[in-house]
Amino acid sequence: MFGYPEDEQYFAGLLSGGKLDVLEEKYGHLFDFREPSLKRAEFNVLRGKLLPDLMRRFDGRCGLQIERICEGDVSLAVDHFIPLSSNILNKELRHLRAVAGKKVATQSFGSNHPDNLVLACSACNSYKKHRFPDKALVNRVLKNKL
Ligand SMILES: [Zn+2]
Repeated sequence: MFGYPEDEQYFAGLLSGGKLDVLEEKYGHLFDFREPSLKRAEFNVLRGKLLPDLMRRFDGRCGLQIERICEGDVSLAVDHFIPLSSNILNKELRHLRAVAGKKVATQSFGSNHPDNLVLACSACNSYKKHRFPDKALVNRVLKNKL
């Protein structure tokens, strides 16, 4: 369950042409709203097993291919397409501000499902960290497999 209806709308706009039922049906498995620390712990166990499969799926190259910074096949790692957690929507949709000494609260979003994982070079990986993909990236990474 999304914490806020505007979050669901945001992801429907990004992934399913604004259609909430399609978001649920086709992309629901990309989300997991449990505590990020739980998901992170599960991911750390899975990571090593997932790498060979992702190397095959992405032909041993970065799946993000962010223009001008991508290093192709250098230092590839497993990355979450929808981040495990983020405070972007709290900032951008609800305009929450950091209060003295504290960052804006994060929310739990992405899952560890293989469809939410992508092989990423270190440059693209650090660029994308905690950001949500834009539509161009969604089309490039998800269109062939979902
Ligand atoms: Zn890259």
